[in-house]
Amino acid sequence: MQKVRLGRTNITVKKLGWGGIPIQRVSDDQAVSVVQAAMELGVEIFDTARGYTNSERRIGLALQKTSRPVILSTKSANRTEKIYDDVQESLRQLQVKKVHIYHLHNVSKTEDYEKVMAVGGAYQGLQKARAEGLIDHIGLTSHSLDILERVLKEDRFEVVMACYSFLEPDAAHRILPLARAKDAGVLTMKPLSGGVIEDAGLALRYVLSTPDIVPIPGSETVEKVRENWKVYAEGRPLSEADQDRIREVRQQFDKQFCRRCDYCQPCSQGINIQLMMGIKSVIRRFGNPDEIAWVKGLAEKARDCTECGECLPRCPYQLPIPELIKKNLEWYDSLKK
Ligand code: SF4
Ligand code: SF4
Repeated sequence: MQKVRLGRTNITVKKLGWGGIPIQRVSDDQAVSVVQAAMELGVEIFDTARGYTNSERRIGLALQKTSRPVILSTKSANRTEKIYDDVQESLRQLQVKKVHIYHLHNVSKTEDYEKVMAVGGAYQGLQKARAEGLIDHIGLTSHSLDILERVLKEDRFEVVMACYSFLEPDAAHRILPLARAKDAGVLTMKPLSGGVIEDAGLALRYVLSTPDIVPIPGSETVEKVRENWKVYAEGRPLSEADQDRIREVRQQFDKQFCRRCDYCQPCSQGINIQLMMGIKSVIRRFGNPDEIAWVKGLAEKARDCTECGECLPRCPYQLPIPELIKKNLEWYDSLKK
């Protein structure tokens, strides 16, 4: 089974990791069974975040039931040195004395990157945690390849995490060569592009066929964990038919799929365009919009779109933004019927 060395962390793990977003949606018992199943199959790296509500706590419960050594990766979106307190909270929730990789979470805007790297910023908080042995390595996750390129060039992080799938393949040529040159590890998220790709097996085989990365697909059922593991264990390469299918799906989503780059902002009406473009996956991830005020607010705000078109020339993928917002609003309204 393929293994990957995560750059100069010198952590070497099996190439299939596991992501802790989806276990937020199930019961404690089910979540623990899922994490245990992944551990028993042989998954070696488990990723979660302070922001994933109960995910750290549930992984902590599963860790109490095993003596298997695993690599833990978690993150916080705190932008100041107070992230140190979040590290301590992660340790409490996970019920461990140390986390192997602690990331600055979703640093996707220049101002955020500058804030975390400034005096009193979150990077300093993580340095303090590392000096005290609470974490081993410092990582950064981002949805922006521009930021990740800068991060790697400046070479202060041992691990980065990027979006990567056959609908978002650019990390392979923009991030991987730089990471190799700087000897940084690369974890990848969103192998299904936020649920847009329906053929999970094909999506996973695509990312697994890329060397030097560790994808961390999330799963909330034991069956799904087993399915993903089977794909990894079989190690089946992509066939000609698979390549054709990938081309087909890419074509289908060519003018539909938002890459979350935020170049279209600012919207004249203050709409969060990328979140609205991905509202289906937002709702899949966070649940009933009627119970989550910010999701409801996001959709209601989108009704203010005047179709002014200011965002259109700023989207490098020429997405018909107002049209897609309208379609997504129709889908959102249909949920209530
Ligand atoms: S077209 Fe709609 S989404 Fe785009 S800038 Fe105008 S109001 Fe905002
Ligand atoms: S709509 Fe276009 S510019 Fe805006 S976030 Fe999506 S892909 Fe990027």
